[in-house]
Amino acid sequence: MRRPVARNLAVLAVSAAVVSVGAAGPPTTETGTAEKVPVAVGYGGAVASVDADASAAGIEVLRKGGNAVDAAVATAAALGVTEPYSAGIGGGGYFVYYDAKSRTVHTIDGRETAPLTAGSDLFVEDGKAIPFAQAVSSGLGVGTPGTPATWQTALDKWGSRKLGTLLRPAERLARDGFVVDATFRSQTASNETRFRYFPDSAELFLPDGELPVVGSTFKNPDLARTYAELGRKGVGALYRGDLAEDIVDTVNEPPVDPGSGWNARPGELSVKDLAAYRAKLQKPTKTSYRGLGVYSIAPSSSGGTTVGEALNILEGTDLSKAGEDQYLHRYIEASRIAFADRGRWVGDPAFEDVPAKELLSQKYADSRACLIKDDAVLTSPLAPGDPRDPAACATGGTAAPTTYEGDSTTHLTAADKWGNVVAYTLTIEQTGGSGITVPGRGFILNNELTDFSFTPANPAVHDPNLPGPGKRPRSSIAPTIVLDQHDKPVVALGSPGGATIITTVLQTLTGFLDRGLPLVDAIAAPRASQRNGAQTDLEPGLYNSESKARLEAVGHSFRLNPEIGAATAVQRLPNGKWLAAAEKVRRGGGSAMVVHPVP
Ligand code: GLU
Repeated sequence: MRRPVARNLAVLAVSAAVVSVGAAGPPTTETGTAEKVPVAVGYGGAVASVDADASAAGIEVLRKGGNAVDAAVATAAALGVTEPYSAGIGGGGYFVYYDAKSRTVHTIDGRETAPLTAGSDLFVEDGKAIPFAQAVSSGLGVGTPGTPATWQTALDKWGSRKLGTLLRPAERLARDGFVVDATFRSQTASNETRFRYFPDSAELFLPDGELPVVGSTFKNPDLARTYAELGRKGVGALYRGDLAEDIVDTVNEPPVDPGSGWNARPGELSVKDLAAYRAKLQKPTKTSYRGLGVYSIAPSSSGGTTVGEALNILEGTDLSKAGEDQYLHRYIEASRIAFADRGRWVGDPAFEDVPAKELLSQKYADSRACLIKDDAVLTSPLAPGDPRDPAACATGGTAAPTTYEGDSTTHLTAADKWGNVVAYTLTIEQTGGSGITVPGRGFILNNELTDFSFTPANPAVHDPNLPGPGKRPRSSIAPTIVLDQHDKPVVALGSPGGATIITTVLQTLTGFLDRGLPLVDAIAAPRASQRNGAQTDLEPGLYNSESKARLEAVGHSFRLNPEIGAATAVQRLPNGKWLAAAEKVRRGGGSAMVVHPVP
């Protein structure tokens, strides 16, 4: 079959504001915080994140001669300060790195792990699954953090600066404070009730017992001290030292206010769990799409296989020529099919036989693509296929619904003047994680283990995502780097949003590569998210569009979702120039920066 080629490889015209970072550091607003703009173009490297102080921390590293990996670690550490409800050293994530010298892509799986004592019934009590919300704000949902080990592994392999140096901008930000914006206040508000269950969280995040005021300065001296300790002693301090003991004590005896009445179930992490933790270096997934190489994260995340399978399904349609309705229809159906396969086949490969290569084969995608009809909608839950033995248009399997996943997290993208690129998504799972702050340490513990299926989604179908000892819960995180025919970067991107991460990355990629949208507009475009459910989520821009009614006439069913994801990306332009792009509006807008801007 002749496959259409990617359309958007040309140099882009950039119309939005460009932020400049001169020798004196990033420009600041009147309140002293770095300026936030969604697109920046220039030389010397680029950083895009959801937060201007965090992007500025990465840019400071690049300006002083650090590389993209150094900048990514500095940006991530700063996000731990300014986005403490989405990311931090109490969580995990997935790091994707393009090495310019060897023109190869490498990844780190820094996912949290279940306790070594965990059985498949970790979340079962009296024969029943624990209610989800109760598992979230408990010690039981906390996995061994992977983020500090990810930073150290990335620096050992590809970095050029010491962790202590790279933590310094974040340490400063935690000590001196950052300016509270509306997003921080509203995320605190949505966690207020459960923060009050845990006095250490209330004390830190509800200063004087109140929600932080927009425009006020928020300080976290405990976190500044924790970063300083990690800088001095190395991340071993968190996996073996007194910090490890503090984490274990907090998980096993959550410091809950007895008067709150909250049943904060204890977890069962031990110092052995922390000492045994390793971030894993592993090969990326690779899919070829429109002649480009699409690299992402392999299981334990389902991100790479699911985005890749959906792209392979879409490959047979020339999306650059499709009308808007046909484009949306095909995109929705490809995503539905890929999610059906994700549910059946993807889990932690240390425990499950995951046919990742087969899921990504074009032959398998073609056998699934033939299910798509232009005048009808597939019924969800759609049954999975068998990638080990592809049968064209097969519908014989048993379907299982997609399990629930929270949606928080944060994504950053960085590039340097040597051409190295990082796409890194880090998380503590739900916005506000477990809600439990480690006393005196200034960071919240994750609730990542709630990404496991508590019980099989359909008892008749094998569920590869049940808990197990030391097992990693399946993720949807999908940091992605696209390379051209010469193995040079085209674009790198990622997003938060739980299972909607997969659809956000997929939609943004097709918007950019096929539909000819400038990167920042591909990010800003209203999103649709179909995850093998009866309804497809639509953001208002699509929910209120004329396409919606036409697609409903074919059989689609939609529900309104006010906001999906918060992507960031970088694009390589000719002659060492970079374009950084972030959200224009979602999550209060993101922050794109380059070292030496050009008009
Ligand atoms: N726990 C989610 C995952 O790993 C990420 C959380 C989110 O983005 O909301 O897929």
